Amino acid sequence: MSLVERALMDRYRRADLPVWKRQVERARFCSNPVRLSGGAASIDAGTGEVRAEFATSDQPDGVLLIACGDRRASVCPSCAEVYRRDMWHLVASGVSGRMSATSSGGAGARQDTVEVTVPSSVASHPRLFVTLTAPSFGPVHSARGGGVCRPRRDMSRKCAHGRPLGCALVHDADHPIVGTPICVGCYDYVGAVLWNACAGELWRRTRIAIDRALAPAASEVLGRPVTVAEVRRQLRTSYVKVAEFQKRGLVHLHAVIRLDGTDPDDRGRITEPPSWASANLLAAAVARAVDAAAVALPSPDGVMRVASWGPQRDITDVSAGGPVTDSRRLAAYLAKYATKTASDAVSASRALARRFHRLHRTWLRRTVGVHLARMVETAWALGSRRDLEHLNLRKWAHCLGFRGHFATKSRVYSVTLGALRAARRAWRARQTEESGQRDVWGTDDDGSTLVVGRWAYAGRGYVKAGDAMIVETMARDHAVARREYRELLRRERQARERVAECVALT
Ligand SMILES: [Zn+2]
Ligand SMILES: [Zn+2]
Ligand SMILES: [Zn+2]
Repeated sequence: MSLVERALMDRYRRADLPVWKRQVERARFCSNPVRLSGGAASIDAGTGEVRAEFATSDQPDGVLLIACGDRRASVCPSCAEVYRRDMWHLVASGVSGRMSATSSGGAGARQDTVEVTVPSSVASHPRLFVTLTAPSFGPVHSARGGGVCRPRRDMSRKCAHGRPLGCALVHDADHPIVGTPICVGCYDYVGAVLWNACAGELWRRTRIAIDRALAPAASEVLGRPVTVAEVRRQLRTSYVKVAEFQKRGLVHLHAVIRLDGTDPDDRGRITEPPSWASANLLAAAVARAVDAAAVALPSPDGVMRVASWGPQRDITDVSAGGPVTDSRRLAAYLAKYATKTASDAVSASRALARRFHRLHRTWLRRTVGVHLARMVETAWALGSRRDLEHLNLRKWAHCLGFRGHFATKSRVYSVTLGALRAARRAWRARQTEESGQRDVWGTDDDGSTLVVGRWAYAGRGYVKAGDAMIVETMARDHAVARREYRELLRRERQARERVAECVALT
């Protein structure tokens, strides 16, 4: 028997294999789960009667597996996939106004729904897909679709560091040199890191500016002066945004911004906006706000800098009936970016830095290249300054200074990730009940049940050598089943539509 076979047999020969497989399924095929030992009991709050008990001592290997929940595909493909699907539902429900959110916990037919308060009318509200980027901090190599990178009339001219000012090469779009500075000596690393650090604040100011800029835009449309207060009584913008790193190590943002009407009696309710509030009006307000938004940056090197948005920006009308109508694609696009990272090696540097309380320059340069390493080093160096303490740059050095969340939304945009997770929990509890067992983490959220638990951390990853391999196969089978089920649903829908067409014809 080979080593691999022996590793696999270790698990397959055990009597509790089905229980172990159920645990893996519950941990959503996570590739690096947290192992917990201990137990919990659900107790009737009124009578004190124990309704259900759970102890890891009865479980395979004496542990409970909990999904790591990492959103980064490179860290855990399974958990990132769950996150991506949740993001899809989050974005899509705000675009199409679905009344229910589908839990993405189970394959195909095993789904569950939760009620959310996004009315289906939001599908007809004006909305934009907006991409905002950082300004330039120095010339970088770029792929110009087969053109010369950076042509100069006099290619022999050099910068203060003795490097040529231009670049006569043609780069492929995925070549590692793309996005890196022509001269690392000339590049404004301090400016770039500070910009990342303040990108969240810049977005916050932009949002406030959008709400204010709706007033002049409305005045133009209505042909009379409209005050900010009047607009605020009638309109509200909501958004979902995703941050992503460009190759040059600067954050850029994708956002869906939607225009809603308001209900003066119930601020939380979403209503239809007045008919004069069009996508064009919103686009005018967004363009004005993006132009005007600025944050004065601290000046650790005596250079005065103001953070603003770069010239590369895109504001596209994605309202229903507009030029771009494929809202499913839009949701998929945003969800995809939410699971991407700038560079996983840079992320790994955070763990290293935490462990050794210092920066690993050589290792970093070797793994992520000189440019991204310089970004991390600059953030690390600036992080020691008292006057920049509020930016917490050492903690966020691995994110090249960026401290914000990678995916955020305004309160009323759509269903929350929490609601989606609750749906998944409810589905699992029901599955357990259907199988005749009582679930400790039951669905009754009416306060009649108390869950008392005692847990200890027992480690990370799988216990046996062959386990990870088995989980990988299980995850693949699960994905195939899911795909096939969705394909079946699609064909059924097509067939139904064809029947409906035939009926309409006769
Ligand atoms: Zn995971
Ligand atoms: Zn070049
Ligand atoms: Zn230079």
